[in-house]
Amino acid sequence: MLKNDQLDHWDRETFLHPSTNWGQFARGDAPNRIVTGGKGVYIKDRDGNQLLDGFAGLYCVNVGYGRSEIADAIAEQAKELAYYHAYVGHGTEASITLSQMIIDRAPPNMRKVYYGLSGSDANETNIKLVWYYNNVLERPEKKKIISRWRGYHGSGLITGSLTGLELFHKQFDLPLPQVLHTEAPYYFRRPDASMSEMEFSAQCAARLEDLILTEGPETIAAFIGEPALGTGGLVPPPSGYWDAIQSVLRKYDILLIADEVVTGFGRLGSMFGSEHYNIEPDIITSAKGLTSAYAPLSASIVSERVWQVLERGTDTFGPIGHGWTYSAHPIGAAAGVANLKLVDSLELVRNASDTGAYFKATLIEALGSHPNVGEVRGDGLLLAVELVEDREKRTFFDPSRAIGAKVAAHLLQKGVIARAMPQGDILGFAPPLCISREEIDTIVSAMADAVQNVL
Ligand code: PLP
Repeated sequence: MLKNDQLDHWDRETFLHPSTNWGQFARGDAPNRIVTGGKGVYIKDRDGNQLLDGFAGLYCVNVGYGRSEIADAIAEQAKELAYYHAYVGHGTEASITLSQMIIDRAPPNMRKVYYGLSGSDANETNIKLVWYYNNVLERPEKKKIISRWRGYHGSGLITGSLTGLELFHKQFDLPLPQVLHTEAPYYFRRPDASMSEMEFSAQCAARLEDLILTEGPETIAAFIGEPALGTGGLVPPPSGYWDAIQSVLRKYDILLIADEVVTGFGRLGSMFGSEHYNIEPDIITSAKGLTSAYAPLSASIVSERVWQVLERGTDTFGPIGHGWTYSAHPIGAAAGVANLKLVDSLELVRNASDTGAYFKATLIEALGSHPNVGEVRGDGLLLAVELVEDREKRTFFDPSRAIGAKVAAHLLQKGVIARAMPQGDILGFAPPLCISREEIDTIVSAMADAVQNVL
């Protein structure tokens, strides 16, 4: 085994880590962690730490770490057939079975599945499908995509543009001109405190309609949104939000892409977030929970309505000009099949609902009366604690104080990983869906201790 200082040296010399301050890291001024193993909801590192992973990696290891059922399925597939492409009608038993399993679990109007490797490339596929769709319908000007501020949809060129976080735009010359942003459904941060949730939702829908009318409805192809905002702050939709948004989209014949990379396959306590919030999307983006990240795989799930136009398009123009070498990779597909079987057999969707409700209630009980806890929010096992300077006035800490990051650092000292979300002092919790009540108690008492000590 390599010595720790050798690995540390190579790490800092050669490895460009995502979402990391590269200069500080290279100079040794930012920490690294070399992760060596995982079991259940825990990971361990080379320094001998055992940490309770309250964020399931990047909210993706839904079945928990160390599942031999998935590891065995991957090994068997690798030995039998590690790779063959899926072009011009090729497939494997795993990729075909997985497609049927996805459609069986997806909302009833969903019809077909296209595979990629990540949430970003699935959204890239989705935007191309939407453009193709409007070309087939001979509406070449209907191409703009509306996303939300604080939405997260990836970090490629078009997907980084869809992402409504400044960090992903500045210095990259993004967003691209085909992408527009509208208001985030962030009720807690509403400017007018007297507004009800329904009024705020109606205002979000009215702002969306204004944007559509200003640009011209004939230029707007699709609206993309996470059922509950993820990276932008872990914000469930206020009452009436999706109904109001969907009625505007229907009025102007605009497709709805539900980005379920986080919410798909159980996280909210329903198989899909669309089901949870009564959304009827035209396309669903999924990734993370599809394989619980045991292998990279994403799926763009298209509805009957979209499929009918795609079918017409390929009848007219020939084979679709869109393909990745690793689309429907057999190892990813084998991991997906084994993973979805585990989600069923361990009843993880129900567990996300039950233990999620317990988690939220215990967080509220432990923290709810603290003067700097503005809100405990979320559904299922996608929860957030937002810290504020003044709870009554809803004023926020100066970002330079990095309160959220300090609370996360304190939690880490207590052996618990939570995510300090990139904007605002928001602690995110999205543990593996197999988490037990005892493990939740460990997180909540560490959080209470952190809030008490940092604030
Ligand atoms: N969409 C959502 C909602 C996400 O949360 C993410 C990643 O966190 C993505 C898309 C991008 O996925 P990936 O990082 O796999 O490209």
